[in-house]
Order: sequence, then C-alpha cells, then structure tokens
Amino acid sequence: MVDTISALWQLLEQVPDPEIPVVSIRELGILRDVREAADGQIDVVITPTYSGCPAMGQIEDDVKAAIARAGLQARIITQLAPAWTTDWMTNEAKAKLRSYGIAPPQCSASDSDGNLNATYSIASPAIIQRAGGRLSFESVPCPRCSSHNTTETSHFASTACKALYKCLDCMEPFDYFKPY
Ligand SMILES: [Zn+2]
Repeated sequence: MVDTISALWQLLEQVPDPEIPVVSIRELGILRDVREAADGQIDVVITPTYSGCPAMGQIEDDVKAAIARAGLQARIITQLAPAWTTDWMTNEAKAKLRSYGIAPPQCSASDSDGNLNATYSIASPAIIQRAGGRLSFESVPCPRCSSHNTTETSHFASTACKALYKCLDCMEPFDYFKPY
C-alpha cells in the first residue's frame, strides 16, 4: 500500500497543468494528497485553482489517464475546502512561470491568518491592502526584463486566473497570475 502511494506521488508529480504545461499540478498545489481511505482504497485529492476554472475537468481526466496508464487504481476526490490559494504554489513553480513569460503572484490575497482580504475582489491586483489598513501600490515586475515599469491592460487575460500586463520598458505584453 505504501509502495502504491509513493508510486502514485511519483506518477502524478509529472502531470502538467493543462494551461501552463511547464508546471506540474503538484508544483501548483492542485495535487493535495495521496492517501489510503478507511475502506482500503487509495484517494487522490485535488483542489481546483479557481472555482469554475475550465481546466479542472481536464486535470481530473489527465490524472485518471496517468493512473490507468500505470496500471494503478485510485479514486479521485475533488476537495473544495480549504480553497486553493496561490500560497500553495512552490517557489520552483513561480520560477518556471517567470521563465515561461508569466509573472507569478506577488503576494497572497489572504492575510497571515488565512482570511480572504475582502478588498481584493474590487481592487486592482497592483493595489494591495496592507495590515493596518493602508493601501500600498505594488508593481508586477516584467518576467522578461524585470522592470517594475509595468501596467495592467486587462484584468482578465486568456483565463480568469490571469491579468494582462504590458511592460513599458521592453514593451512586451505578459500574463500575470493573480494572487488568490
Ligand atoms: Zn520588460
């Protein structure tokens, strides 16, 4: 059983995110757990990034296909609480996003206690409410030239998870993975 669980971890660590194939679902924090359930079956626990993210069905299909190809058996559990946060993204994932041309999330929309910052939904991702109630403006560095001279051109880019930015130094547009 332990062998099957570690084999599943190794296998599923290789499953890429369907939207950003340079990062795995493990690095993004979507793959939460592989564990033995009370009934003796093995559960693979995944948490969708954004509710209603169209990629989620694809991720579940990819996970199922990888398990079937390896001749293993597991049940897929979609866990909605606690909700996925960009905090679960590994530093490796953030570095890979940057090299892929996507600016990784700058900071979390939740505070240190894990409470969602209520002001986030109406604020631009460049404006972050700090503890103490003061607004601070944080720029999103360009993933290509690292310039902080960037501007948001569209709050929703190719997917709802990302905003479209433009670098005012190298003039390249880029996606920003919004903190969540
Ligand atoms: Zn640039």
